[in-house]
Amino acid sequence: MKRRCVFFDRDGVVNQSPGSGYVLRPEDFHLNEGIVDAICWLKKRDWLVILVTSQKGVGKGLMTSEDLAAIHRKMQDELAETGVELDAIYAHTGEPGCLHQPKPDPEMILAAVERFGIDRHYSWLIGDSDRDIEMGRAAGLAGTIRIVSDKAVRTPADYTLESISSLIPLFEKVL
Ligand SMILES: [Mg+2]
Repeated sequence: MKRRCVFFDRDGVVNQSPGSGYVLRPEDFHLNEGIVDAICWLKKRDWLVILVTSQKGVGKGLMTSEDLAAIHRKMQDELAETGVELDAIYAHTGEPGCLHQPKPDPEMILAAVERFGIDRHYSWLIGDSDRDIEMGRAAGLAGTIRIVSDKAVRTPADYTLESISSLIPLFEKVL
């Protein structure tokens, strides 16, 4: 049977937004309040939870791919302390030879769909920028959720939330 998945953007959704720059060091990575509860809610109900992130700071030479791996290890370790983990991490780094395409190309989602046997038509995306929402649409997902940020909105999502803590009530309604 095909699985259902919620795809999460990273900066501004899973962790506190670094603003216009990048999270370059593990010590600057801070999980958003409420995100652990939202991920736990999904995992308890057998949803896959997969990260799709743009980390072009690697391609720009601001950090190495080892730095990025260390940041993601910290993220998974902090989640593991609460008994959950992300099922996979897909990152577009902008390096020559990067396997993944930049958002809003849906390639990262489609690669996960193929690898995990995900049913796109019952899967969702949560992001905080137009490119996230556009990627979810382009992948043919069931729906998109935007967490409000200071970014301008050109592509409205199916649902817009003021905060991460509103995710679980929305999950209970729409998933
Ligand atoms: Mg973001």
